[in-house]
Amino acid sequence: MGKRILISETPQYVGEVVKLSGWVSLRRDHGKLIFFEFCDRSEKVQLVILPDKPEVISIAKDIRSEYVIDVIGLVKERPRKNESGHIVADNLEIEVMELSIISRPVGELPIDVSQSELHLNLETLLNNRTFVLRNKKIRAIFSLYSLLLETYAKACRTRGFLEIKTPKILSAATEGGANFFKIKYFDREAYLAQSPQFYKQAAMSAFERVFEIGTVFRAEPHFTTRHVNEYTGLDAEMGFINSVDDVMMELEGIIMEIVREIDARGKNELEFYGASIPKEIAIPKIRLSEAVEILKKEYNKETDGEDIDSEGEKMIGEYVLKTYGSDFVFLTHYPAAIRPFYSMPSKDNPEYTETFDLLFRGIEIASGGQRIHEYEMLIDSIRRKGLDPEQFKDYLDIFKYGAPPHGGWGLGSERIIQKLLGLGSIKEAVLFPRDVKRLTP
Ligand code: ATP
Ligand code: MG
Repeated sequence: MGKRILISETPQYVGEVVKLSGWVSLRRDHGKLIFFEFCDRSEKVQLVILPDKPEVISIAKDIRSEYVIDVIGLVKERPRKNESGHIVADNLEIEVMELSIISRPVGELPIDVSQSELHLNLETLLNNRTFVLRNKKIRAIFSLYSLLLETYAKACRTRGFLEIKTPKILSAATEGGANFFKIKYFDREAYLAQSPQFYKQAAMSAFERVFEIGTVFRAEPHFTTRHVNEYTGLDAEMGFINSVDDVMMELEGIIMEIVREIDARGKNELEFYGASIPKEIAIPKIRLSEAVEILKKEYNKETDGEDIDSEGEKMIGEYVLKTYGSDFVFLTHYPAAIRPFYSMPSKDNPEYTETFDLLFRGIEIASGGQRIHEYEMLIDSIRRKGLDPEQFKDYLDIFKYGAPPHGGWGLGSERIIQKLLGLGSIKEAVLFPRDVKRLTP
């Protein structure tokens, strides 16, 4: 028998004999007939085994859910008529002529993944991760995720950004933070990168516009629904900007391109979750200090100085939705005290910075801003944070030999999918998540 075709291709082969490979998701016996619900990566279809095929029946009698099988069969229209007149695989069945078992499950199946709703708690879902990924609704998350990565890269490229990969093993814990994982590197210590910040700026100084889809490690002992200890960052850095507004404009353009693409190609996936696509509205910009006022006035919420916690972000998300109809909002002008040393201070008031966070449905999905590109100014800024410029020699070298005004962002990929589908935890949007307690599977 010839080449395997996909179940989704069977409508083109009505009346013909084809070869299919996949998993049995369900077995049903009706008198002398055996039915299998059968799926591959594309679709599912019904297999029927007729009583006049003793050889096939003798193989089929052992087959249960999750057996991997090869099938040779005749593609037939099901007796039930399809009103729309449009033939889809769902209205077809395969009359089995030959059958072979490729792989059989060992022991009991842990979960019935053929149901569309699994009703599992997060722990069970993650403990049985590999198997649970067979479920259609769970797979939809990762189809959308793949579409997100594809569209982010495409949108960056069409805007003239070059794709780069930066090292994830570092000699020093840059940015001075405590959230680095320390690792053994031959006979010395090294650290896992908690941001591509310095390297993307270095690449920017040669290529002007760069982007990276890369792993980010954060040694934060968080137990929240929006943190994991290893995630995938969608980063970018761009040179020759006039102001931070150029950075926000580019990010907004990319976000809206992602939204449009998901609207065009991800409808089935969204439907599993009853999720709606964000409206394409110009993203409102609110100064952080204004947001603090809004929280006081509208929600009676006191903030810790001029910073907003996750509850505050949620409220601001609600506020912009009801006021502007937007699922997104840029919060701008963060105080220098709570931003990294490389943040460009505002000209009119250096207590503030030309930085922003982007919130989506009430959670931060990106941080970005204009960076300091002048050597001396950067040294001053490092000192003002109580850090030692000597420690930043390689980084400072980027700015020694002429760097343009520039800025960029770090965008969290998993949080986008989490909020898009309304998932309870970010971990559901990570294939094999790592958290404080979990290193397996
Ligand atoms: P948060 O305040 O929510 O902890 P952050 O400000 O520490 O986030 P950034 O350093 O600004 O995070 O990282 C850029 C983006 O990366 C964030 O806006 C978010 O989308 C994503 N991100 C950051 N930390 C995590 C994490 N631990 N797990 C998943 N995504 C993350
Ligand atoms: Mg941030």
